[in-house]
Amino acid sequence: MRPSPDTLLIHGDAELAGDGSLAPPVFPSVTHAAADAAEFSDMASRPRHPRFYTRYGHPTHERAARLIAGLEGAETALMTASGMGAISAVALGLLKAGDLAVGQASHYMGTTKLFTELLPRFGVRTRLVDQTDTGALVSAIGEGARLVMVETPVNPTMAVTDLAEVAAAARAAGAISVADNTFATPINQRPLEHGIDLVVHSATKYLGGHHDLIAGAVAGPAALVERIWDSAIVLGATLGAFDAWLLLRGMRTLPLRVARANDNAMAVARFLERHPRVEAVHYPGLESHPQHALAGRQMSGFGGVVAVRIRGGYLPAARFTASLRLFANAVSLGGVESLAVHAAAMWAGTLNEAQMREAGVEPGLVRLACGIEAADDLTADLAQALDTDAG
Ligand SMILES: *Cc1c(COP(=O)(O)O)cnc(C)c1O
Repeated sequence: MRPSPDTLLIHGDAELAGDGSLAPPVFPSVTHAAADAAEFSDMASRPRHPRFYTRYGHPTHERAARLIAGLEGAETALMTASGMGAISAVALGLLKAGDLAVGQASHYMGTTKLFTELLPRFGVRTRLVDQTDTGALVSAIGEGARLVMVETPVNPTMAVTDLAEVAAAARAAGAISVADNTFATPINQRPLEHGIDLVVHSATKYLGGHHDLIAGAVAGPAALVERIWDSAIVLGATLGAFDAWLLLRGMRTLPLRVARANDNAMAVARFLERHPRVEAVHYPGLESHPQHALAGRQMSGFGGVVAVRIRGGYLPAARFTASLRLFANAVSLGGVESLAVHAAAMWAGTLNEAQMREAGVEPGLVRLACGIEAADDLTADLAQALDTDAG
């Protein structure tokens, strides 16, 4: 029987400790002495040896990877220095010139850049398709895709992608399917159970959970993960020992934090939906979300991120964001503190207004990442910021 995520996260890596200590040590050493020549050649030849040289593996990486693989129901996992380190290692590890890679019309900014700029430079053909149109996605995959990248719910519009349909289409085409599960976390959604081949994470967000580390992970079948590892050691996005240690510590409380963030986001979404100064609320847990039924089929909770469109556009949204007291004006998400980002202001230097609209970034859109404070305090903060602007 598989242990519940709650128990797995507390005990799932204990056998890797080896010395009876409950709290894991930090291993700063990047190199490890071998007992003799035979052990040395074993270290150098075996993939992902945890005690050889840190770029190849690390004792704390192994512990964090064991937990993430367990949560996702994967055979194994690979730790990387960041979420983009994980996504780049997957793409560069599995694709070659001439291959077709299919992604979504909207993605995390770094993933979009990978598909529109970096991969094409190496001769990979890429197609980005509106992910809410499952038929369009399936037919693009059917055109001979080698890799399919999805991200659900997506940043920042909270649109949902049909994991089971994408996985089936990818399997039929002989493509490898990859899901970025950062927003949902394996507590709310396990893409491998829907037939997806690989899961990637920005562990910087919910897995770490305290806005104090940067890390990433790839989870899936051993044969695929070893192929990616082969490129990852050359690309060099290696997770540092101290960030790996912080991540392991942060992950122990993941189910508690995610449950609270889910509850807070639902309370915030319901509060905002009733407010006269709000034009629209995007949250997959609301009945008004156009893909609420799909979200309900593939998620057991709806996550901590809510996008809200403030009536009147750019300036009222800017004043609302500036008036918040508990929600810090900061990028990132998934930590204990609540954060707010005025999306149009953040992308103003990068995208023009037409590109923003295409990515679903309306001028009045504000992304709220709910932390683990009390829900009443969060809604009171939103109320005072909305009222400030009305006066
Ligand atoms: C933050 C984020 C990333 C990138 O992760 P880093 O750890 O910042 O490299 C990728 N995907 C999603 C959905 C994210 O939120």
